[in-house]
Amino acid sequence: MNKIYFDNAATTQIDPSVIELMNGVMSNHYGNPNSTHSFGRSSRTLIEKARKSISKEFNVLPSEIFFTSCGTESDNLILISAVRDLGVKRIITSKIEHKAVLNVVKFLELNDRINVEYVKVKANGLIDYDDLDQILNTNKQKTLVSLMHVNNEIGSLLDLTTVGDICKKHDAFFHSDTVQSIGKYKLDLSKLNIDFIVGSAHKFHGPKGIGFVYINKKLKLNPLLIGGNQERGLRAGTESVHNICGMELAFIDSYNSIEKNKNYILDLKNYFIEKITISIPLLKFNGICEDNNYSTYSILNVCLPVSKDKSVLLEFNLDLKGIACSRGSACQSGSNTGSHVLNSILTKSDLEKPSLRFSFSKYNNKSEIDKVIKVLSDFINSN
Ligand code: PLP
Repeated sequence: MNKIYFDNAATTQIDPSVIELMNGVMSNHYGNPNSTHSFGRSSRTLIEKARKSISKEFNVLPSEIFFTSCGTESDNLILISAVRDLGVKRIITSKIEHKAVLNVVKFLELNDRINVEYVKVKANGLIDYDDLDQILNTNKQKTLVSLMHVNNEIGSLLDLTTVGDICKKHDAFFHSDTVQSIGKYKLDLSKLNIDFIVGSAHKFHGPKGIGFVYINKKLKLNPLLIGGNQERGLRAGTESVHNICGMELAFIDSYNSIEKNKNYILDLKNYFIEKITISIPLLKFNGICEDNNYSTYSILNVCLPVSKDKSVLLEFNLDLKGIACSRGSACQSGSNTGSHVLNSILTKSDLEKPSLRFSFSKYNNKSEIDKVIKVLSDFINSN
């Protein structure tokens, strides 16, 4: 059976060229990058080359990029250290952020008595910028705004320029969880009013267990992980040289083919929308995900006209046929509370029905879409 992988927002297939490169690095560059002998120096050279590649793409300095283990660690580092080191007393975020932000904010509210405010999210999944402006106006506490660029469940996009300008007007720090947009959107950080962004290699065909943060050079944060002086004192622990190199290659490749991949994936998404609308006319799109001006080209979240009691059967059926997609978001599996994102934007009656997230990559094709839509419509018509 040919399996179909439509869960690329959860993680992506690692590029074969990345695996090959990483194998070479593990075999030939095993020196500790902090050692001063030639083995160490060759590893150090690779790490600094990767830092340069990433910073060049964002038009920032290499010294503004720090390597971490993942997106979650990057978000933790920024939020916790901003409170401890930058005098932040209030965080403004939204109820549709990833748990890597939401749960850290809750932790800070409880443990550091940070004032937390949630900006309005419209029914279409977009952030209400006027509300953000108003909340920022209400008091002059030192504030960090944390809003994600691309929502991992419904794909809605944040206008980084607009939010950056609002934050600047109110002298607030701005952190954007860009985990879902790195490799898919070009970001010239020198032109944006943004203090922190984050990335995670496994979302752009790189390895798991490696990520990065960008921290504007004007801001000085202290580490969460205490120990050696790695990453110029911001993150202790011997650097994962092969992972960093794998991330660099996946990063460069995705930006080198960004237009080609974007056009290809957008075409897949539009094809999916067109076909599924014909086959399952009672289906609804969650948020604004079918409008490519306001949502990313790789994510589609649909609410199916199936009763709640049949939804388990639906998932079982898809899995049995080798189809991988996501109910809500994979990062929440194990929890039975449903998606906090869909809970924020759907009506009660739509929450009663199953919603599925399909997320596409350059490795998918239209015949896979035909197969998935046939399986879905056969299931729906048989009930
Ligand atoms: N932020 C967003 C928007 C995500 O989608 C994810 C992963 O799904 C994360 C953060 C966490 O990234 P990682 O899996 O690298 O910890």
